[in-house]
Amino acid sequence: MVEVLDLKFKELISAEEIQARVDDISNQLNTKYEGKNPIFLGILNGSFLFIADIFKKLYIPCEVSFLKVNSYQNTSSTGKMKELIGLNQSIEGRHIVILEDIVDTGRTLDFILKTLEIHKPASISVATLLHKPEATLIPISLDYVGFEIQNQFVVGYGLDYNGFGRNSSSILIKVDD
Ligand code: 5GP
Repeated sequence: MVEVLDLKFKELISAEEIQARVDDISNQLNTKYEGKNPIFLGILNGSFLFIADIFKKLYIPCEVSFLKVNSYQNTSSTGKMKELIGLNQSIEGRHIVILEDIVDTGRTLDFILKTLEIHKPASISVATLLHKPEATLIPISLDYVGFEIQNQFVVGYGLDYNGFGRNSSSILIKVDD
């Protein structure tokens, strides 16, 4: 059992299992994107270890850049607004691979895809370390999925609980007291 702040977690996916899937996905990306000079767009903060581990295994010519999704409350409406920050290079005509930590409801990824499509990339594919199929509200086709997991809160390997827990090399799942 591992404690992160006031919550208890146990290991769900070991560091070795993660590295094996990272190897598989990197191999597929090396094959699919050969000669295409893709741009990998890593979505911070939770994906930073996944981005680094994938990127180290790529041997094709490619670029990496980092984006962040800010959510804020719009004072004039009840809904939560999102903004994508960090896109400071042209992606027009380029092959894009989004690297995400986790797809839960799909709202964040849907917003990212819609925002990027405005900039007319040649293609966009998505690689996510984790996917919670039962939590889906907006179905999105995911090209590379590390692991499908149950609809429970997880931390580790970059994912946090109120800022803590990112520094676990395995994925930890919340347990009830
Ligand atoms: P979505 O928009 O798909 O509902 O949520 C995506 C974002 O919610 C992720 O990028 C992540 O920041 C956060 N998230 C969703 N589920 C979890 C979880 O189990 N653990 C953590 N740490 N973050 C999560």
